[in-house]
Amino acid sequence: MKANEILDLLKRRFPNEPEYHQAVAEVLPTIEEAYNEHPEFEKANLIERLCISDRIFSFRVTWTDDKGQVHTNMGYRIQHNNAIGPYKGGIRFHASVNLSILKFLAFEQTFKNALTTLPMGGGKGGSDFNPKGKSNAEIMRFCQAFMLELWRHIGPETDVPAGDIGVGGREVSFLYGMYKKLARENTGTLTGKGIEFGGSLIRPEATGYGNVYFLLQMLETRNIDIKGKVVAVSGSGNVAQYTVEKLIELGAKVVTLSDSNGYIYDSEGIDSEKLQYIMDLKNLYRGRIREYAEHYGCKYVEGGRPWGEKCDIALPSATQNELNGDDAKTLLANGCIAVSEGANMPSTPEAIDEFLKAKILYAPGKAANAGGVSVSGLEMTQNAMKLSWSREEVDEKLKGIMRSIHEQCTKYGTQSDGYVNYVKGANVAGFMKVAKAMMAQGIL
Ligand code: NDP
Repeated sequence: MKANEILDLLKRRFPNEPEYHQAVAEVLPTIEEAYNEHPEFEKANLIERLCISDRIFSFRVTWTDDKGQVHTNMGYRIQHNNAIGPYKGGIRFHASVNLSILKFLAFEQTFKNALTTLPMGGGKGGSDFNPKGKSNAEIMRFCQAFMLELWRHIGPETDVPAGDIGVGGREVSFLYGMYKKLARENTGTLTGKGIEFGGSLIRPEATGYGNVYFLLQMLETRNIDIKGKVVAVSGSGNVAQYTVEKLIELGAKVVTLSDSNGYIYDSEGIDSEKLQYIMDLKNLYRGRIREYAEHYGCKYVEGGRPWGEKCDIALPSATQNELNGDDAKTLLANGCIAVSEGANMPSTPEAIDEFLKAKILYAPGKAANAGGVSVSGLEMTQNAMKLSWSREEVDEKLKGIMRSIHEQCTKYGTQSDGYVNYVKGANVAGFMKVAKAMMAQGIL
């Protein structure tokens, strides 16, 4: 396999899908060597079969707003690869959603899920529906209309969706309610459900907590204590909120958060009381992060991103391509020692190059944010067994999984000079697992 040739082929076959090309371009060069050590992979054309989704569903979603006006949106589900288990991956509701973004996410998800040690394949779905400013009743009607099409393609042993940007506990519950009505079963298809009807404890916290657990593992390799470290976090949704909660518990000082309008810088640090304000602001009142700055009298930068603020550690937790090469240079110049990605593909290729060149601790999302899907996997297990584990049990399992992902990264990513390239480590470890499973199951 020659990485460039495969990439060219995918660009020709799927033009105008830049995020998908970017995700594939990040992986292929790092697995080229491992792939080429196995001539049987090439004969089985494993690489094209791994890059191209098994199937993609797209459908029109028709819904009515509170004034009686009818709207249409596009809905999608990508079933990328099920070599090691049912398709699994979140659903995103955001105006920017298109096939390119969902294909990049489904591709990444396949590697991430392989790293978790749990039997899950990769998938992703969503809609270009914009939830901002919609009433609760409109959100419910949209979720029901979306599921009216999606339900026939998913199931507990085929494809198990979860949440992502714009899809939290409220949306998952509306989606699940409609799924159950249509499918007439109670098997827990969809994870991130409410605790009262099959959800797992720690699932809301899992991505943020998991990212911090992974960060701790990385810091340990250099004997660095997280206590007192200044941390820049972006986003202010599910992942960002629980990242901050865990950082506060561990004695780190979080100074930034953001949303799609701008970022806040709080030189005093965000404490538990301020975090509760953010959770209420974002989860109940659906407000803007600007209101935090107005409430606490701190700095707010409209249209900005937090990477210009001095910090020891950066945890991008909002969205893809939110940290570019210049941002990376600024972070490094300001003394940043570690970047761990809560979001999916938040760093551009130029930013990743900078981090690797500077040999700082840098964890790509597919390793660092795998805690969310891991606890989703644990939710599936609990649903299948018809019982619930305690908070402590799930948290211990999550810690164990993040430790194991770190071990796999160091196994495959340690260079001759001792530097751990977590990008290569995660990609090769995830790839080898999926590749072996695909080879064993024949040409499909
Ligand atoms: P939420 O919808 O809860 O929060 C998303 C946050 O990112 C919000 O603050 C949002 O701001 C901001 N944001 C979204 N789009 C943009 C944009 N285009 N530019 C700037 N800011 C933006 O989503 P999550 O916290 O669940 O997801 C955040 C990231 O983490 C995503 O990349 C997701 O794929 C990834 N992830 C999530 C997992 C999970 O378990 N939820 C698991 C693994 C990865 P605003 O409020 O203005 O929209």
